[in-house]
Amino acid sequence: MAHPCYWHDSLATPPVAYSRLDGDIDADVVIIGAGFTGLWSAYYLGNADPSLRIVVLEAEHVGYGASGRNGGWLVGSMAGLDRYIDDWPLAKRQTVCDLLCRNVDDIGAVLEREGIEADYHKGGAVYVAARYPAQEQVQREYLAHLHHIGFRDEDCRWLDPDAMDRIGRFRDQRGGILQRQVATFHPVKLLHGLAVRLVARGVRLYEHSPVEETAPGLARTRHGRVRARHVVTSTEGYTRHLGLKRHILPIESMLIATEPLSSMQWDEIGLAGRQAFGDASRLVTYGQRSQDDRLIFGAQGYYHFGGPARAEFGISARHQRMREGLLNALFPGLGKVSITHGWGGTLGLSRHFRPHAILDAETGMATAGGYAGEGAAMAHLMGQTLAELITGQQTERTRMPWVHANARPAEVLKRWEPEPLRWMSAQAVSASYGLEEAMMQRDLHVPGLSPALNAVNNAVSRMVE
Ligand SMILES: Cc1cc2nc3c(=O)[nH]c(=O)nc-3n(C[C@H](O)[C@H](O)[C@H](O)COP(=O)(O)OP(=O)(O)OC[C@H]3O[C@@H](n4cnc5c(N)ncnc54)[C@H](O)[C@@H]3O)c2cc1C
Repeated sequence: MAHPCYWHDSLATPPVAYSRLDGDIDADVVIIGAGFTGLWSAYYLGNADPSLRIVVLEAEHVGYGASGRNGGWLVGSMAGLDRYIDDWPLAKRQTVCDLLCRNVDDIGAVLEREGIEADYHKGGAVYVAARYPAQEQVQREYLAHLHHIGFRDEDCRWLDPDAMDRIGRFRDQRGGILQRQVATFHPVKLLHGLAVRLVARGVRLYEHSPVEETAPGLARTRHGRVRARHVVTSTEGYTRHLGLKRHILPIESMLIATEPLSSMQWDEIGLAGRQAFGDASRLVTYGQRSQDDRLIFGAQGYYHFGGPARAEFGISARHQRMREGLLNALFPGLGKVSITHGWGGTLGLSRHFRPHAILDAETGMATAGGYAGEGAAMAHLMGQTLAELITGQQTERTRMPWVHANARPAEVLKRWEPEPLRWMSAQAVSASYGLEEAMMQRDLHVPGLSPALNAVNNAVSRMVE
């Protein structure tokens, strides 16, 4: 049977399988989790010091977590960035934005250097004001925010409806934002390509080896232990059993993939430059045109009581239909197409609503995550940063405000509230967003509703700060 996740299903050859850890071994660094954060950390550690003994322990298999299930956007920005730099002088804010933009090019350069074929394509992204009029104001405000925070005009600019129409034929569009610093890629090709190269360089990678306990100098699985000076936890939304579980909120999101579309269908849709796309809805839509001419399209996040990470890949017919409906609503020219894949995964949200890279220099415990749905490129930056911290380098990355070079992860990261508070707040936020979306679609205006929702959201997120 085909894999429900298009990325896993579309590998030309079956991925290399790695054995389980059996017995006790010594290393310099043990990394928990074989997603982007774990594998990029291993990559940059090995580059910085080829003599380092590096072990990666993965509970399931490479790409089992969000890294093997996402929308395939590499975004040159960071969710929650304003929470770090809002009150900095503009020139300083711009250096941070420039670094985030460069990160997307850096990933492309590594893939090229390493000969990893992962369908990397830097076509930019359009955030379209489409489907209903209220989206225009939302996108204009978002663009003003991007400029205020320090993204340059040439990287993020407004496209009028004619210019947008030359990119894609979206329903009732009123223009939108073109963000140049976005690339699309095939996540699972990247992960497996990277894993193979790591192992060839001496990294010991074990699958089916869930870590049950970490302590300074130790990661313990049921069948073996790794003793190492540094222990890196890179489990993001899939954090389980480990001490950081209450610090990362698991949010589920889902995607669909269409069959490959014909050139006639693409003439109707546009996206000849393979731009990534999304609209301004609170449903958080994100799509791309894959290398083999499918539409890959995702939307919406959910929190489940108790915060379990999504284990299964496949999604229900109801969830598939909802995304199919949204996709058809965005592209009136799409017509009837077969949906060949539908899958979901779990991303991680920190209580501060912003990502982090942390090393406790005394105990050697390190972690990175909390990317809030924009982790594909961030995990590269954070993996590189963790490697620099661990090998004692000081770089522009290690000076970034999200880096804590000498701190306990459990002290930097606040805990989420206990249940049922977490679940109740998540339900309230989702319901209010759903209401707002329904009213905007019907062109019903309640003066002050959107700002009020934003204010509530901000208040909840800043309660701990
Ligand atoms: C549906 C969806 C769509 C997304 N779309 C995008 C997108 O288009 N662009 C973007 O930038 N971001 C996107 N994201 C977010 C992004 O995919 C993640 O932020 C990123 O992949 C996190 O990488 P990671 O390596 O930190 O964690 P993960 O990829 O989640 O990897 C964690 C790994 O740790 C393993 N693990 C957990 N516990 C243990 C243990 N005890 N022992 C051993 N191993 C363990 C898990 O099995 C897993 O393989 C999306 C996420 C989802 C779910």
